[in-house]
Amino acid sequence: MSSDRIKIVWIYPDLLSTYGDQGNTIVLERRAALRGIPTETVSLRSDEPVPADGHIYLLGGGEDRPQILAAQRLRNDGGLIQAARQGAIIFGVCAGYQILGHEFGGEEGQLVPGLGLLDISSARGERRAVGEIVGDVSAELQVPRITGFENHQGVTRLGQNVRPFAQVLSGIGNGDGYEGAYNGRVLGTYMHGPALVRNPGLADLLLRWAVGHDLQPIDDSWAGRLREERLNAVLTS
Ligand code: GLN
Repeated sequence: MSSDRIKIVWIYPDLLSTYGDQGNTIVLERRAALRGIPTETVSLRSDEPVPADGHIYLLGGGEDRPQILAAQRLRNDGGLIQAARQGAIIFGVCAGYQILGHEFGGEEGQLVPGLGLLDISSARGERRAVGEIVGDVSAELQVPRITGFENHQGVTRLGQNVRPFAQVLSGIGNGDGYEGAYNGRVLGTYMHGPALVRNPGLADLLLRWAVGHDLQPIDDSWAGRLREERLNAVLTS
Protein backbone atom coordinates (compact mmCIF):
# COMPACT_ATOMS: atom_id res chain seq x y z
CA MET A 1 0.00 0.00 0.00
CA SER A 2 1.46 3.33 -1.05
CA SER A 3 0.05 5.54 1.74
CA ASP A 4 -0.19 5.49 5.53
CA ARG A 5 -3.93 4.77 5.57
CA ILE A 6 -6.40 2.55 3.77
CA LYS A 7 -8.66 4.66 1.59
CA ILE A 8 -12.13 3.10 1.41
CA VAL A 9 -14.47 4.42 -1.27
CA TRP A 10 -18.14 3.64 -0.79
CA ILE A 11 -19.60 3.91 -4.27
CA TYR A 12 -22.94 5.65 -4.75
CA PRO A 13 -24.79 5.18 -1.45
CA ASP A 14 -27.58 7.25 -3.04
CA LEU A 15 -28.20 4.43 -5.58
CA LEU A 16 -26.60 1.27 -4.22
CA SER A 17 -27.36 0.71 -0.58
CA THR A 18 -30.03 -1.83 0.24
CA TYR A 19 -30.14 -4.08 3.29
CA GLY A 20 -27.66 -2.01 5.29
CA ASP A 21 -24.70 -2.53 2.96
CA GLN A 22 -23.18 0.57 4.61
CA GLY A 23 -22.32 -1.79 7.47
CA ASN A 24 -19.53 -3.12 5.25
CA THR A 25 -17.65 0.20 5.45
CA ILE A 26 -18.13 0.40 9.23
CA VAL A 27 -16.78 -3.11 9.77
CA LEU A 28 -13.71 -2.48 7.63
CA GLU A 29 -12.96 0.75 9.52
CA ARG A 30 -13.45 -0.93 12.89
CA ARG A 31 -11.44 -4.07 12.17
CA ALA A 32 -8.59 -1.96 10.76
CA ALA A 33 -8.69 0.38 13.81
CA LEU A 34 -8.49 -2.59 16.20
CA ARG A 35 -5.16 -3.43 14.52
CA GLY A 36 -3.96 0.18 14.66
CA ILE A 37 -4.37 0.62 10.89
CA PRO A 38 -5.80 4.04 9.99
CA THR A 39 -8.53 4.31 7.36
CA GLU A 40 -10.22 7.13 5.51
CA THR A 41 -13.69 6.57 4.07
CA VAL A 42 -15.16 8.55 1.20
CA SER A 43 -18.93 8.21 0.63
CA LEU A 44 -19.23 9.03 -3.01
CA ARG A 45 -22.54 10.28 -4.40
CA SER A 46 -23.39 9.28 -7.95
CA ASP A 47 -22.93 12.87 -9.25
CA GLU A 48 -19.31 12.97 -8.03
CA PRO A 49 -16.22 11.75 -9.90
CA VAL A 50 -14.80 8.40 -8.76
CA PRO A 51 -11.29 8.89 -7.36
CA ALA A 52 -8.84 6.36 -8.80
CA ASP A 53 -6.54 6.40 -5.74
CA GLY A 54 -8.73 4.32 -3.39
CA HIS A 55 -7.50 1.03 -1.93
CA ILE A 56 -10.89 -0.62 -1.32
CA TYR A 57 -14.05 0.19 -3.30
CA LEU A 58 -17.42 -1.04 -2.04
CA LEU A 59 -20.57 -1.33 -4.15
CA GLY A 60 -23.82 -2.35 -2.48
CA GLY A 61 -27.11 -3.77 -3.69
CA GLY A 62 -29.84 -1.84 -5.48
CA GLU A 63 -33.22 -2.03 -7.14
CA ASP A 64 -33.23 -2.48 -10.93
CA ARG A 65 -33.49 1.18 -12.00
CA PRO A 66 -30.95 2.68 -9.58
CA GLN A 67 -28.67 -0.21 -10.57
CA ILE A 68 -28.93 0.73 -14.28
CA LEU A 69 -28.23 4.39 -13.50
CA ALA A 70 -25.25 3.44 -11.33
CA ALA A 71 -23.81 1.26 -14.12
CA GLN A 72 -24.21 4.08 -16.68
CA ARG A 73 -22.56 6.63 -14.42
CA LEU A 74 -19.68 4.33 -13.49
CA ARG A 75 -19.04 3.49 -17.15
CA ASN A 76 -19.08 7.16 -18.15
CA ASP A 77 -16.86 8.15 -15.25
CA GLY A 78 -14.17 5.51 -15.82
CA GLY A 79 -12.52 6.06 -12.40
CA LEU A 80 -13.42 2.64 -11.02
CA ILE A 81 -12.15 0.89 -14.15
CA GLN A 82 -8.88 2.81 -13.85
CA ALA A 83 -8.61 1.92 -10.15
CA ALA A 84 -9.12 -1.77 -11.00
CA ARG A 85 -6.32 -1.58 -13.59
CA GLN A 86 -4.07 -0.15 -10.88
CA GLY A 87 -4.79 -3.16 -8.66
CA ALA A 88 -7.45 -1.71 -6.33
CA ILE A 89 -9.63 -4.03 -4.27
CA ILE A 90 -13.23 -3.99 -5.42
CA PHE A 91 -16.02 -5.64 -3.46
CA GLY A 92 -19.51 -5.71 -5.00
CA VAL A 93 -22.69 -7.00 -3.41
CA CYS A 94 -25.69 -8.18 -5.46
CA ALA A 95 -26.49 -5.28 -7.86
CA GLY A 96 -22.91 -4.11 -7.27
CA TYR A 97 -21.66 -7.62 -8.14
CA GLN A 98 -23.71 -7.72 -11.35
CA ILE A 99 -22.46 -4.25 -12.37
CA LEU A 100 -18.87 -5.51 -12.20
CA GLY A 101 -19.68 -8.03 -14.96
CA HIS A 102 -20.12 -7.67 -18.72
CA GLU A 103 -23.90 -7.20 -18.60
CA PHE A 104 -26.97 -7.70 -16.44
CA GLY A 105 -30.73 -7.87 -16.92
CA GLY A 106 -32.72 -4.65 -16.41
CA GLU A 107 -36.30 -4.34 -15.15
CA GLU A 108 -37.80 -5.50 -18.49
CA GLY A 109 -35.15 -8.16 -19.00
CA GLN A 110 -33.16 -5.89 -21.37
CA LEU A 111 -29.41 -6.44 -21.19
CA VAL A 112 -27.56 -3.51 -19.65
CA PRO A 113 -23.78 -3.18 -20.06
CA GLY A 114 -21.68 -3.44 -16.92
CA LEU A 115 -18.03 -2.52 -16.32
CA GLY A 116 -16.45 -5.76 -17.55
CA LEU A 117 -14.19 -6.00 -14.49
CA LEU A 118 -15.34 -9.56 -13.80
CA ASP A 119 -15.86 -12.18 -16.51
CA ILE A 120 -19.51 -12.78 -15.59
CA SER A 121 -22.88 -12.08 -17.23
CA SER A 122 -26.17 -11.85 -15.40
CA ALA A 123 -29.67 -12.13 -16.81
CA ARG A 124 -33.12 -12.01 -15.26
CA GLY A 125 -34.11 -15.42 -13.95
CA GLU A 126 -37.59 -16.93 -13.79
CA ARG A 127 -37.89 -16.71 -10.02
CA ARG A 128 -36.55 -14.34 -7.38
CA ALA A 129 -33.96 -15.82 -5.08
CA VAL A 130 -34.89 -14.67 -1.59
CA GLY A 131 -33.66 -15.95 1.74
CA GLU A 132 -30.67 -17.07 3.73
CA ILE A 133 -27.60 -18.36 1.93
CA VAL A 134 -24.63 -20.34 3.23
CA GLY A 135 -21.53 -21.35 1.30
CA ASP A 136 -18.03 -22.76 1.57
CA VAL A 137 -15.50 -20.31 0.21
CA SER A 138 -12.82 -21.18 -2.36
CA ALA A 139 -9.97 -22.67 -0.28
CA GLU A 140 -7.26 -20.33 -1.56
CA LEU A 141 -9.04 -17.32 -0.04
CA GLN A 142 -8.87 -18.74 3.50
CA VAL A 143 -12.24 -17.39 4.58
CA PRO A 144 -14.47 -19.48 6.86
CA ARG A 145 -17.92 -20.68 5.77
CA ILE A 146 -19.95 -17.68 4.71
CA THR A 147 -23.49 -16.69 5.66
CA GLY A 148 -25.74 -14.00 4.24
CA PHE A 149 -29.14 -12.95 2.95
CA GLU A 150 -29.96 -12.85 -0.77
CA ASN A 151 -32.75 -11.12 -2.66
CA HIS A 152 -32.25 -10.95 -6.42
CA GLN A 153 -33.84 -11.81 -9.74
CA GLY A 154 -30.52 -12.14 -11.50
CA VAL A 155 -28.93 -15.44 -12.51
CA THR A 156 -25.18 -15.16 -13.07
CA ARG A 157 -23.05 -17.14 -15.49
CA LEU A 158 -19.31 -17.31 -14.86
CA GLY A 159 -16.79 -17.07 -17.70
CA GLN A 160 -13.30 -18.60 -18.02
CA ASN A 161 -11.47 -15.76 -16.27
CA VAL A 162 -13.19 -15.86 -12.87
CA ARG A 163 -13.46 -18.39 -10.10
CA PRO A 164 -16.57 -19.02 -8.04
CA PHE A 165 -16.33 -17.35 -4.65
CA ALA A 166 -18.15 -20.11 -2.75
CA GLN A 167 -19.96 -23.39 -3.16
CA VAL A 168 -23.59 -23.06 -2.06
CA LEU A 169 -24.71 -25.26 0.83
CA SER A 170 -28.08 -23.56 1.23
CA GLY A 171 -29.70 -20.89 -0.95
CA ILE A 172 -29.36 -20.00 -4.66
CA GLY A 173 -26.41 -17.67 -5.33
CA ASN A 174 -25.42 -17.53 -9.01
CA GLY A 175 -27.94 -20.27 -9.83
CA ASP A 176 -25.29 -22.88 -10.81
CA GLY A 177 -24.52 -24.25 -7.34
CA TYR A 178 -21.97 -21.55 -6.70
CA GLU A 179 -22.15 -18.11 -5.21
CA GLY A 180 -20.27 -14.98 -6.26
CA ALA A 181 -17.06 -14.77 -8.28
CA TYR A 182 -13.59 -13.28 -8.06
CA ASN A 183 -10.55 -12.57 -10.14
CA GLY A 184 -7.50 -11.17 -8.42
CA ARG A 185 -8.72 -8.53 -6.01
CA VAL A 186 -12.11 -7.95 -7.65
CA LEU A 187 -14.73 -9.95 -5.79
CA GLY A 188 -18.51 -10.05 -6.00
CA THR A 189 -21.16 -11.82 -3.96
CA TYR A 190 -24.93 -12.05 -3.67
CA MET A 191 -24.64 -11.91 0.11
CA HIS A 192 -26.16 -9.01 1.96
CA GLY A 193 -26.28 -9.18 5.68
CA PRO A 194 -24.30 -6.89 5.52
CA ALA A 195 -21.79 -9.45 4.23
CA LEU A 196 -18.74 -8.15 6.10
CA VAL A 197 -20.68 -7.81 9.37
CA ARG A 198 -21.81 -11.41 9.22
CA ASN A 199 -18.47 -12.65 7.92
CA PRO A 200 -15.56 -10.93 9.69
CA GLY A 201 -13.19 -13.34 7.93
CA LEU A 202 -14.22 -11.83 4.60
CA ALA A 203 -13.63 -8.30 5.93
CA ASP A 204 -10.16 -9.44 6.99
CA LEU A 205 -9.47 -10.84 3.51
CA LEU A 206 -10.06 -7.37 2.01
CA LEU A 207 -7.91 -5.75 4.71
CA ARG A 208 -5.15 -8.33 4.19
CA TRP A 209 -5.14 -7.57 0.49
CA ALA A 210 -4.98 -3.84 1.27
CA VAL A 211 -2.03 -3.98 3.69
CA GLY A 212 -0.25 -6.84 1.90
CA HIS A 213 0.39 -9.00 4.97
CA ASP A 214 -1.35 -11.14 7.59
CA LEU A 215 -3.34 -9.37 10.27
CA GLN A 216 -3.06 -9.57 14.02
CA PRO A 217 -5.91 -11.78 15.34
CA ILE A 218 -8.69 -10.05 17.29
CA ASP A 219 -11.32 -11.37 19.67
CA ASP A 220 -14.22 -12.50 17.48
CA SER A 221 -16.08 -14.56 20.07
CA TRP A 222 -19.18 -12.36 20.01
CA ALA A 223 -19.41 -12.24 16.21
CA GLY A 224 -18.61 -15.96 16.22
CA ARG A 225 -21.61 -16.75 18.44
CA LEU A 226 -23.92 -14.82 16.13
CA ARG A 227 -22.48 -16.63 13.12
CA GLU A 228 -22.97 -20.04 14.71
CA GLU A 229 -26.58 -19.14 15.50
CA ARG A 230 -27.30 -18.15 11.87
CA LEU A 231 -25.43 -21.14 10.41
CA ASN A 232 -27.22 -23.60 12.68
CA ALA A 233 -30.61 -22.01 11.98
CA VAL A 234 -30.13 -22.30 8.22
CA LEU A 235 -28.37 -25.63 7.94
CA THR A 236 -30.71 -27.48 10.30
CA SER A 237 -33.98 -26.04 8.96
N1 GLN B 1 -31.65 -5.76 -9.20
C1 GLN B 1 -30.82 -6.91 -9.05
C2 GLN B 1 -31.59 -8.24 -9.12
O1 GLN B 1 -32.74 -8.28 -8.76
C3 GLN B 1 -30.04 -6.79 -7.76
C4 GLN B 1 -30.89 -6.83 -6.53
C5 GLN B 1 -30.18 -6.48 -5.26
O2 GLN B 1 -29.16 -5.82 -5.28
N2 GLN B 1 -30.74 -6.88 -4.13
O3 GLN B 1 -31.02 -9.23 -9.50
